[in-house]
Amino acid sequence: MEIDLADKQLQAFIKELPKIELHAHLNGSLSRNTLQKLIDLKTKKLNNVKQELNLEIPSLSSNDLSECFKVFGLIHKITDSPEAIYMATCDVIEDFYNDGVRYLELRTTPKESDLIATQDMYVETVMKAIEDTCFEKCKGLSVKLLLSVDRKRPPSCAQQTLKIAEKYFIGLSSVIGIDLSGNPNSGDISCFLPYLEYAKKIGLKLAIHISEVPGNFEEVECLLKLEPGRLGHGTYLHPKKGGSTKNFELLKQLKIPLECCLTSNVISKTVSSYEDHHLTLFREMNYPYVLCTDDKGIFNTSLSNEYYLASKYYSLTKHDLFNLSYESIDYIFSPEREKKDLKNIWKKYENLC
Ligand SMILES: [Zn+2]
Repeated sequence: MEIDLADKQLQAFIKELPKIELHAHLNGSLSRNTLQKLIDLKTKKLNNVKQELNLEIPSLSSNDLSECFKVFGLIHKITDSPEAIYMATCDVIEDFYNDGVRYLELRTTPKESDLIATQDMYVETVMKAIEDTCFEKCKGLSVKLLLSVDRKRPPSCAQQTLKIAEKYFIGLSSVIGIDLSGNPNSGDISCFLPYLEYAKKIGLKLAIHISEVPGNFEEVECLLKLEPGRLGHGTYLHPKKGGSTKNFELLKQLKIPLECCLTSNVISKTVSSYEDHHLTLFREMNYPYVLCTDDKGIFNTSLSNEYYLASKYYSLTKHDLFNLSYESIDYIFSPEREKKDLKNIWKKYENLC
């Protein structure tokens, strides 16, 4: 009984704690509620041909990965209009806000469809949703956008994404960086490097999914040498997880912060358990990291839940959790003045611990 109460208090503390989310894919972050809203929107547009399209939300009650990934197929079908993209973006931002997130970097792959004429139009719709949501419902929240380069697609797509990022990066837009993601077993990374190097040269920040599968040492080395701003997952970087000593030495020198997504890794079985997560090894060496959700809708989690799991599995005190959140400010892609502003907000919460 006592433990339950302490647990509830801890969960309430975590929810109230201001948090930073830096690794969230827009599509994977849609809640069931939003999926249903999008299905209804699509059905209305198609005059109730619900059965033919098979727009049913797969069961997410189990940790069955194939069920999880069926959702991506569904999401693809129901986010094919500017109206749907707008609704999806607003909802995801609101979810994070209600969970205590005060700075959010969302990532998404620009796409086209019959109703979304150009990728520019897609990005403009997402940007408009960000602007409106932060102005209306989520006051005090700062949201930035990373455009994703999918390594499964041809490099010409990367070039197009980069052009769009460059176009919107100038000025007051929310676009601040590029994400490299997609199936880690596909694509020759050397074809993408020139685009990523160019992105960096013009001031866009880079967040790179790295070492999600064992081996690939050459690829890992190339990506590390790019010196991106942050690394996604890095599951097999540590020598105790099969990483190469050479790459690990480079990593230790560069100290590029790791985006750790505990539940995502456990459910997608790239790590065997929370206890066995590579974060335990990086924590031992005081390596910089930030807790993130990856795909909170697909993996049925929240950033607060990830903090709670970290506190349970790695014995983090409230003070540790506060420091973890506070230190994450240093790893955001926004300029120093925004970091300073956020730190001032965080300090008001310090006495909560
Ligand atoms: Zn990811």
